[in-house]
Amino acid sequence: MTTARWLAQYAWLPGAAEPTADVLIETVDDRITTVTPLAGRTPPTAGVEVLDDAVRLPGVTLPGLANAHSHAFHRALRGRTHDGRGDFWTWRDLMYTVADRLDPDSYLALARAVYAELALAGVTCVGEFHYLHHRPDGGRYDDPNAMGAALVEAAAQAGIRITLLDTCYLTATVDGRPLTGPQRRFGDGDATRWADRVEAFAPAGAHARVGAAVHSVRAVPADGLGTVAGWARRHDAPLHVHLSEQPAENDACRAVHGRTPARLLADHGVLGPATTAVHATHLTSSDIVLLGASGTGVCLCPTTERDLADGIGPARRMAEAGSPLSLGSDSHAVVDLFEEARAVELDERLGSRQRGHFTPAALCDAATVTGHAALGWTDAGRIAPGGRADLVTVRLDSARTAGVPPVGVFFAATAADVTQVVVDGRVVVRDGRHTTVDVPAALADTIQAVISR
Ligand SMILES: [Zn+2]
Repeated sequence: MTTARWLAQYAWLPGAAEPTADVLIETVDDRITTVTPLAGRTPPTAGVEVLDDAVRLPGVTLPGLANAHSHAFHRALRGRTHDGRGDFWTWRDLMYTVADRLDPDSYLALARAVYAELALAGVTCVGEFHYLHHRPDGGRYDDPNAMGAALVEAAAQAGIRITLLDTCYLTATVDGRPLTGPQRRFGDGDATRWADRVEAFAPAGAHARVGAAVHSVRAVPADGLGTVAGWARRHDAPLHVHLSEQPAENDACRAVHGRTPARLLADHGVLGPATTAVHATHLTSSDIVLLGASGTGVCLCPTTERDLADGIGPARRMAEAGSPLSLGSDSHAVVDLFEEARAVELDERLGSRQRGHFTPAALCDAATVTGHAALGWTDAGRIAPGGRADLVTVRLDSARTAGVPPVGVFFAATAADVTQVVVDGRVVVRDGRHTTVDVPAALADTIQAVISR
């Protein structure tokens, strides 16, 4: 049993509009046991007898950040898809090239580096939307879940938790054209065979859980949607789905199914409180009601959505309709949950030409407790007794954050301002450095290996 005491200069506690000063946090193993605000106590500081051995956390300490939407291998594309200006197809061609080259060993190495970068940015849990299942020609590995197992091991080596969102990906178009070329390795043939493979996957380690994903209405035929949703329900597992990222997906869905993607998902039992729709950029008013009334969450990925010219989703209206909002860095064009969080508010300002749609506390919730819940970790994302011992400390003395009040951290800080990260009671980042992974070197080596072949 390992007991630790942490003295946060400021800590963002559940339900608070802003961080609280001088908070003593005690942890035993992977759990928070007590949370005691000390400010204003008399005599001078109650609990002073336990302060000598407390680790001081200067700056603002946040609950663990959850990155609810990741495709780890897309990190290899960063900065490489803008040549000659770069259109969507420039990006997708290179994405498929990288997808074609990975095997379980090289994916473990790449994902370990990517997840370590996430840890440096304060991410304590990642939702990996995983569809690189099979050999490049579509054949099975000896262990049909070898690629998923590599991702689970990568998260363990990087020191973070993972929800492996095993993704059903069966067709190339909404009207059912088969997978060809680099897409062949994504496919299980049909939804039943997808479910049989996932059923056999038991990830190694208490840091991991398995969820399900429908890649999109493009990649899963209507008669397979219920199979995936049913598997998730039976296993009480989170279910994620890319939804209406591009208008072309909506147009194709209307042409084939005579309804919007959100309506199609609703009609096949995919929506509900355990479901998270990713992007949800191009929705009708009826779609927003469908998502909100069913309690379906929405994961926004603003830095990827801007990189791919997707558009700006109706974040404020979805939240008002009842959809909890979470955040993801998706393609990892940027890994910075502070940037994702403020973009939710700032993009809404650009679209509406009005300020003040989300409070700082609402952005903090999206980055922490709501994101963890979307990944099935309902005991994480809050600095409260009984919660997982995740603590993310952000400095207030960098060039970016000096002079900034603690409540302004989501509008001022960047991932580079994260100084310490504790995941399930273990220090994973100290003084801004990962404790076990040389992150820049690991990224350079593993990306070089898949790009230059
Ligand atoms: Zn995605």
